[in-house]
Amino acid sequence: MIKKGKSLSFIKRCRKRLRDVVKVKENMWIVKGRPSLGDWYSAYIVVYIEEKKRYMCSCQSPERAFSGKRRKELCSHVGAVILYNMVHRNEHAY
Ligand SMILES: [Zn+2]
Repeated sequence: MIKKGKSLSFIKRCRKRLRDVVKVKENMWIVKGRPSLGDWYSAYIVVYIEEKKRYMCSCQSPERAFSGKRRKELCSHVGAVILYNMVHRNEHAY
């Protein structure tokens, strides 16, 4: 287990994904998968669950809940969506 430098590379991965984020509708986004970032699928669906106030990603599927370490951690797909929302929120001000 290598923890060192994890958060920085996490942010870098999220930033790389930023251009791959497409907003589908309110509280739903699609993030294109990138094999170079360790993605298995060509696209991931991220949704924001308002009543739980949290993001869910299709890479955090229940059947993989106990096999992967990804579930508890914020995945970089969700990270990219959060970045995307930070960038695009300001656009409404113009
Ligand atoms: Zn994900």
